[in-house]
Amino acid sequence: MATTVLQVAVPLPLRHTFSYVAPPSENCPIGARVIVPFKSRQVVAVVMAVSSESFDYPLKPVHQLLDHEPLVPAHTRQLVQWAANYYHYPIGQVMATALPRLFNQGKAAVISSEKHWRSCLQPLECIGHQARKQQQIYAFLQQRPNGLSHQTLLATFPNGQSTLKALENKGLITQQRQEYRPVIADKLQPALSLNPAQQTAVEQICTKLGQNHPFLLDGVTGSGKTEVYLHVIARVLAQGRQVLVLTPEINLTPSVWQRFYQRFAVPMALWHSKLSEQQRADHWLLARDGHLSVVIGTRSAIWLPLPDLGLIVVDEEHDSAYKQQEGFNYSARDLAVLRAKWLGIPVILGTATPSLESHYHSQQQRYQRIHLPQRTGDADMPRLQIIDCRAHKAPDGLSQPLILAIQNCLTAKQQVLLFINRRGYAPVLMCYDCGWMAVCPHCDAYLTYHQSHQLKCHHCHHQQPLFRHCPRCDSTDLNTVGLGVQRISHAVQQQFPHANVVRIDSETTRAKHAMAKVVQQVKEHQVDILVGTQMLTKGHHFPKVTLVGVINLDAGLFSLDFRAPERLAQQLVQVAGRAGRGEHAGLVLLQTHHPEHPLLQQMVQCNYQQFAKTALAERQQAQLPPFSHMALFRVESLNPQQGQQFLQWLQNHLPAQNTVLCLGVNPAPMLRRAGRYRHQLLLQSLQRADLHHVINDCLQQLPHNPHQKGVRWQLDIDPLDLY
Ligand code: ADP
Ligand code: ZN
Ligand code: ZN
Repeated sequence: MATTVLQVAVPLPLRHTFSYVAPPSENCPIGARVIVPFKSRQVVAVVMAVSSESFDYPLKPVHQLLDHEPLVPAHTRQLVQWAANYYHYPIGQVMATALPRLFNQGKAAVISSEKHWRSCLQPLECIGHQARKQQQIYAFLQQRPNGLSHQTLLATFPNGQSTLKALENKGLITQQRQEYRPVIADKLQPALSLNPAQQTAVEQICTKLGQNHPFLLDGVTGSGKTEVYLHVIARVLAQGRQVLVLTPEINLTPSVWQRFYQRFAVPMALWHSKLSEQQRADHWLLARDGHLSVVIGTRSAIWLPLPDLGLIVVDEEHDSAYKQQEGFNYSARDLAVLRAKWLGIPVILGTATPSLESHYHSQQQRYQRIHLPQRTGDADMPRLQIIDCRAHKAPDGLSQPLILAIQNCLTAKQQVLLFINRRGYAPVLMCYDCGWMAVCPHCDAYLTYHQSHQLKCHHCHHQQPLFRHCPRCDSTDLNTVGLGVQRISHAVQQQFPHANVVRIDSETTRAKHAMAKVVQQVKEHQVDILVGTQMLTKGHHFPKVTLVGVINLDAGLFSLDFRAPERLAQQLVQVAGRAGRGEHAGLVLLQTHHPEHPLLQQMVQCNYQQFAKTALAERQQAQLPPFSHMALFRVESLNPQQGQQFLQWLQNHLPAQNTVLCLGVNPAPMLRRAGRYRHQLLLQSLQRADLHHVINDCLQQLPHNPHQKGVRWQLDIDPLDLY
């Protein structure tokens, strides 16, 4: 007798779906969750297919059906299936990435409800004059016939609880529980009138609404790309469709959010990792059911179901944050382009510094490039100058010319931003007698000195108090070498004792809203000098910053990674882009020991375009991406030989496919991290299909690999970081 068989994706590292017998009397729709027995456990799985078949071997029955309606819509399942194939990642784990954690845990898929207040529409006069606060709240509620949630009311009237209670006791307002819905802005900001370049951009994009068309919006920093997005989005919303906006960083979302929220009277939501699990579940369900018109989110927002998506925007498309580094190495930017293609809608990739991949696609006419060559208003592009540190020593990170420039800037009541490239630039503890340096006991890395008098490892969680004596020669002459953000901000403060110096790095911005607070302080000019790392380079708009000093950039000039020059160029343009965005011209000073380096020369001429062209030509010659495709096997093992042998075996069992190049088993540049030894095997091919063919073969061979014990492996398709 034929039984109904379900193919389900289980959230375990297994590369295919599993078959179970459907419960006899229930209809199990595709996309519903079920609980199934797996080995000795019960796991929550998603139904990917249903068939009616006879089986000659016994199948286990589903334990429980969790959703009577499909939870995961078809287009999400399609994206999950595609990504599982392309990234060679277990389908159930891809599905788990695409769903809020509460759903993976089997919680009911219902939107949470919240307390709502509604006015009973009695005249305002029934409240006595002396009860001012009651009158205020009551009037506020009367203007909102649909009522307001308790939380929203308290946001407007802090400490309003007792007043609400009093109004309720008088029978003037009633409470009820309602499904959570996003709040729509009361007051909207009008759209800015566009300059001609923006106008052209908007028109070009809008002629392609309803068709698949990737745009590369290549606009210099401050050229008004966001305003272009907003105008295009207005048209998409007018068609009743939805918009997904991706931003690389959680710290950026609040400022982007403000501009969007105050522009459109439509339901909007944020999506990022600092939302609570319940908020994520709510936003996911609202999105799926078409109750959100705009979603602004970080990388994982690409998985959100949106039934009538009309446009995807990927802001700062070059940012490597779009590629997930741990576990499932997907690229949200690439998935955005793919999703837009399937849906037949435009996608806008916006940036001042296109990734070489996107630059190449625009050369190939696969993406339409739209250029915004100028800043809005009167702001000019900043001037870049090199400070030769061979001639001007910079003992505390600050050369004399930079100090003078800072002085001038402060005298003119303007703000300064000092940028420190974190790579290879942390202070380490050294013995000045014998040269011993403090290393992490678990990694091939130096420990970093922190002013909290701790030594910390930036690659694992190791942390320990300072040494008093050198463990090698017992000398007490221990001191730091190298300049950290802390040390430089300290030096700056000593040099300019009357200036307000603020340090921004991952440590000072860890707390919730910390970054938003600093951004606000800078805007209100409570800060004179900002000292910080990478975080400063991204998207912020500080009109009063006129001087940017790049303290150290040499580490980026001589890296092994073929992508290092691209990253450095992007970083320099982005950090320079923070200067002179207001009425005063900007100046960018670059401290270096290699002033003649061609990359710096191109940067001084502010010519990212030229840089990209040269760099692409070099990549073509060397047959590096985007001219070829790469996949990287990474392994970790407790014993140094295990991982190496594992990869060696894999290499020896690679199918003969002469279009796929195997670049051999190599130790990772940091061989030991967190106590584990790391090795890698790089595969490269001009033909994507051949590469994937070989990988499929490899993965089929893997179970026969005799060196699996104690080895953790990971496969990175289109790796961004080779080292
Ligand atoms: P980008 O995203 O390219 O860095 P933004 O869209 O953030 O640039 O714009 C930079 C600044 O210029 C913002 O303060 C924005 O309000 C302003 N701006 C953008 N477009 C216009 C315009 N058409 N007219 C006046 N100001 C504008
Ligand atoms: Zn010593
Ligand atoms: Zn360590």
